[in-house]
Amino acid sequence: MCLNIKILNLVLHHFIFKKIRTGHRRFKNQAVIFDKNLVMFTLEVPSLKELCTGLLHLLYPNLCVGCNADLPAELDCFCLGCRRQLQLTNMHTEVENAFTERFWGQLPLVAGAAMYAFQRRSPIQRALHQLKYKNQPDIGVRIGRRFGHALARTQVFQTVQAIVPVPLHPEKERQRGYNQSAMFAQGLAEILAVPVLTNHLVRRSLASSQTRKKRMERFDNVREGFALRRPDQIKGKHLLLVDDVLTTGATLEACGQVLLEVPDVRLSMATIAIAMH
Ligand SMILES: [Zn+2]
Repeated sequence: MCLNIKILNLVLHHFIFKKIRTGHRRFKNQAVIFDKNLVMFTLEVPSLKELCTGLLHLLYPNLCVGCNADLPAELDCFCLGCRRQLQLTNMHTEVENAFTERFWGQLPLVAGAAMYAFQRRSPIQRALHQLKYKNQPDIGVRIGRRFGHALARTQVFQTVQAIVPVPLHPEKERQRGYNQSAMFAQGLAEILAVPVLTNHLVRRSLASSQTRKKRMERFDNVREGFALRRPDQIKGKHLLLVDDVLTTGATLEACGQVLLEVPDVRLSMATIAIAMH
C-alpha cells in the first residue's frame, strides 16, 4: 500500500502539481503530498531526468573498469579510488617522450603516446586483463574515448586522418570474438572523427609466412608477419597505429615499417599503456 501511495504521489507530482510548483530552485525536486487526513506536506523526489538516468543505470550499469565498482554517472572508466593509483603519462603533450624514444633509429614517428604507465597489480593491469581475456570489448572503446579527448586537444594528433589497429592473428580474433586494439581504435576514432581501417594491415597466417620464408630466404623477418592490402587508399595519409600495450615495441615497429612503405605516409602511434623499464 505504501508503495502504491508513493507511485501515485509521484505521478501526481509530475502531471498535476507541476502547475503549483513555485519555480524556486529549492522546491524543484519536491512533490506536494496529501496524507489520509488531507494534510499537505512536501516530499523530496527525484526529477524525471534523474528517474530516467537511474533506470538506464539499472539496464546498463556504469562500472569501473579497474575494480567493477558502481560508477557515478559523471565518472567514466575508473572510479576515484582507482584513479588515485593510476599513473597518467601525459606523453601526448610532448613531441619527444619515453614512447617516441623507443623507436629512435627504427622508425620516423610524427608523434607517439601511451595514456597510462603500466604497473603490475594496478587498475590498468586489471582493465587490460578484462579487455583481453574476459570478453569486455567495451573497456577498449571507453578508454579510447577518454584518450581521444586528450589527443584531440593537441595540434599534432588533430592531423591524424585514419586509425590502424595492430591486427590479431585471425584464429585468435575468432576465439576472442574481437580485436582489443580495434576496440581502442574505435573509441579514439569516435572522438577524433576519423575512420578506423581494419582491413588494410593484416597478419599473415603462419603457413603463408613460412612459404614466403622459403621463397625469399633473405626476406626481413621482422616484417614478414604483416601484410598490407589496398595501399593506394592510405597513400599520403597521417596514420595513427594503435595497440593495447607498448612493451618491447617489436610488433608496433613491424607494423609501422609495413605502413611506411606506402608513399608519403606519416606515422604516429598510441597505446593504452606503456611498460616502463
Ligand atoms: Zn575502481
